[in-house]
Amino acid sequence: MLLPHSIVPGIGWPAMPPPVGASMLAMQFQLQQSQWLPPETLRERQLQQLAPLLRHASETVPFYRQRFAAARFDPCSGFAAAAFFQLPLLTRAEIQSAGDALVTSKLPPDHGKFLSFGSSGSTGQPIKVLGSEVTHFFGSALTLRDHLWHRRDLSARLAAIRTKIDSATLQGWGPATDAVYATGPSVMLNIASDIDVQLAWLREQNPDYLLSHPSNILALARRSLETGTRIGNLREVRTFGETLPADLRDTCSKAWGVPVTDVYSAEEVSTIALQCPAHEHYHVQAENLLVEILDAGGQPCAPGQVGRVVITTLHNFAMPLLRYANGDYAEVGEPCPCGRGLPVLKRIMGRQRNMLVLPDGTRHWPSFPAETWTGIALIRQIQLVQHSPRRIEARLAIDQPLTPEQQQRFIRALQESLGYPFEIELRHVQQIERSANFKYEDFISLIGG
Ligand SMILES: [Zn+2]
Repeated sequence: MLLPHSIVPGIGWPAMPPPVGASMLAMQFQLQQSQWLPPETLRERQLQQLAPLLRHASETVPFYRQRFAAARFDPCSGFAAAAFFQLPLLTRAEIQSAGDALVTSKLPPDHGKFLSFGSSGSTGQPIKVLGSEVTHFFGSALTLRDHLWHRRDLSARLAAIRTKIDSATLQGWGPATDAVYATGPSVMLNIASDIDVQLAWLREQNPDYLLSHPSNILALARRSLETGTRIGNLREVRTFGETLPADLRDTCSKAWGVPVTDVYSAEEVSTIALQCPAHEHYHVQAENLLVEILDAGGQPCAPGQVGRVVITTLHNFAMPLLRYANGDYAEVGEPCPCGRGLPVLKRIMGRQRNMLVLPDGTRHWPSFPAETWTGIALIRQIQLVQHSPRRIEARLAIDQPLTPEQQQRFIRALQESLGYPFEIELRHVQQIERSANFKYEDFISLIGG
């Protein structure tokens, strides 16, 4: 285990860290305790933390002043939790149209300056969210928590293949860890690079940890299996930014013999849930966000039920997001056997537009893992687009067109895994395009509603 930076001459162990590192370690000390709190205590603390945020929103954020007045909700004279949970949900469209009305007129002292949390628009609705240096600090603390939970060797080499970066070699792993530790180096490559170029780069860099989007990792692992490529030092794959394909863990295990650790995050709120150190499900980061999973009637889902993800940020005083429905759906899990009281999400399902609509009007998130077609033909990637309740277009990235017999077998296999004899129209493409933010969706329904 690496020792933290120390700033007192002659003192290395135990370390006496500089102020920013000391704050970060103080936060980890608290997070290590709070993770074991029972759910009721966690909820109590969340509501305590919510009180000053709601007063602040009511006093300095025009959008909420109006919204609270319309709902006859007055957090300045105390508030009942039940009243908070009846406030209308905040949609992406509202964030988009509210613009500056959602931004505070006065950031409290010591929250630092305003920072932009970028905008993302995989559903064609880009939103801009502001945070503060405090918000950023909490985001970093959760990234460091993820490393500590999964016992990563911080002195090792990290490779990241992602958007918005240029190829580079850096001294450390990034601000979350650099504040406390002198970590090993990290190397970066832009995700737009061709898969074979990425794979050659990975072999050359030979990282201990690899971070990228799930669809990109899946393509890399499949290509490694085809070409027999090994990445000798690799010990763990880390994923973020998309829903996890059903066969990703299995494919990484076969290709490289390594586990996959996923993070559920969104640019506008940073980390939402981290994968449990002992299981494949996720723990909501309840110290930073209050997350509700709501059914169609707006009631909290029970374990086993799937509902909309609704997020309240507890520390963003720059642009508070209160009961924000980010468009995702997730399945609530049973309490975790690991003993942590942090709420469990069993699966992250993606968005409504990733749901298959059956002719009888029912919807579900389809699963069509690679086993569906690998025995039939060499298909690099597929994407299904549903145009009507009975018609689906299958885009296939392939080098050689399928024979009529392969086409028939492929269509039958697909109909079987989708659970209905859809009319399936095959389209050969060189490459499957990604959305503007480079996220990849393997199923898109164009049926509204
Ligand atoms: Zn757990």
